[in-house]
Amino acid sequence: MYQTKAYSAVNATSALAATSIPRRDPTARDVQIEILFCGICHSDLHTARNEWSSVMQTTYPCVPGHEIVGRVTQVGSAVTKHKTGDIVGVGCLVDADQTCPCCRDHLENLCPSGVFTYNSPDKHGTAPVTYGGYSDSIVVDEHFVLRIPANLDLAGAAPLLCAGITTYSPLKRAQVGPGKKVGIVGLGGLGHMGVKLADAMGAYVVVFTTSPNKREDALRLGADEVVVSRNADEMQKNAGSFDFILDCVSAEHDINAFLNLLKHDGDMTLVGAPEKPLSISAFSLIFGRRRLSGSLIGGIAETQEMLDFCGAHNLTSDVEVIPIQKINEAYERMVRSDVKYRFSIDMASLKSD
Ligand code: NAP
Ligand code: ZN
Repeated sequence: MYQTKAYSAVNATSALAATSIPRRDPTARDVQIEILFCGICHSDLHTARNEWSSVMQTTYPCVPGHEIVGRVTQVGSAVTKHKTGDIVGVGCLVDADQTCPCCRDHLENLCPSGVFTYNSPDKHGTAPVTYGGYSDSIVVDEHFVLRIPANLDLAGAAPLLCAGITTYSPLKRAQVGPGKKVGIVGLGGLGHMGVKLADAMGAYVVVFTTSPNKREDALRLGADEVVVSRNADEMQKNAGSFDFILDCVSAEHDINAFLNLLKHDGDMTLVGAPEKPLSISAFSLIFGRRRLSGSLIGGIAETQEMLDFCGAHNLTSDVEVIPIQKINEAYERMVRSDVKYRFSIDMASLKSD
């Protein structure tokens, strides 16, 4: 075991602050990574503040961060996929049983024994729970370590590891492409990646936002139209016209207003995970035989496929790079929907702390 610098929350209301955490020495299958950039996902904030306590309690101290890009510093004797010096990524998953039906279908994200990058029981016993990417280094089983295409900017590539795969996976499953009208609800970290990816897949993309000042950005990011969702007239003009809608909203909102925009047999998928339950009118689904579904990140093979797709299309996240010392300010701005469109922490800043 060795100690590494990190930022943690010590309870649901504390600011994040510098600390030191243990990491295991790499086993034969492990890759040790010096973390260069880590994106800030709204899930980090939900977890640090224990907002998902009804589903998964947060264990403190909590070290969030699951959009990790770094450089390999050491590999175990059985590692074949990566070598020292490689630029690699780690997303929301660091382990799974790799034998269950989900894992056999390359859906490690759905494995009942899956281990999230932070706040999951630590199978190795290094600490009570796993600690994430707001830290100097991390040690991960090689199966969960991804290759980052060489042409991508690293600060902008980090958010692909969660925001990228979480939007790519449902868009791909919905066969989004030319001739499909796709709605993206909420222009935040996930939403702006959803726009870029759906546009690259060839779809007609409409952004729904509560922030009228994001209109120009939405068009620049690849949207064909922008609808301010609090404007009932603008919403009504789109009734019954969408093949697919991806809901990326982090807070309570009316999903019926969006279900009513689907064509018959259209599908709306939730990836946003608000703290409080959402209410659904049965009629929003019954009329039009519409479907409502959910999606959780993606499997490891699909995550690599998404990274390679982004490499081929030269796609990264629009990031505001910050030092780790600005993390609490960044959280406050995220709550106010004031992120353009992902914070990416330059982890070199942790060395000076
Ligand atoms: P984010 O960057 O904070 O973006 C959320 C966006 O939602 C905001 O930018 C805002 O967009 C909109 N919004 C916020 N409050 C709203 C409200 N009260 N009513 C309507 N719209 C509102 O968050 P994120 O990192 O993209 O994450 C979004 C959600 O997805 C979070 O709940 C996160 O935990 C979840 N998530 C799920 C998965 C998964 O696997 N399913 C993975 C990662 C994250 P506008 O300003 O455009 O309205
Ligand atoms: Zn995330």
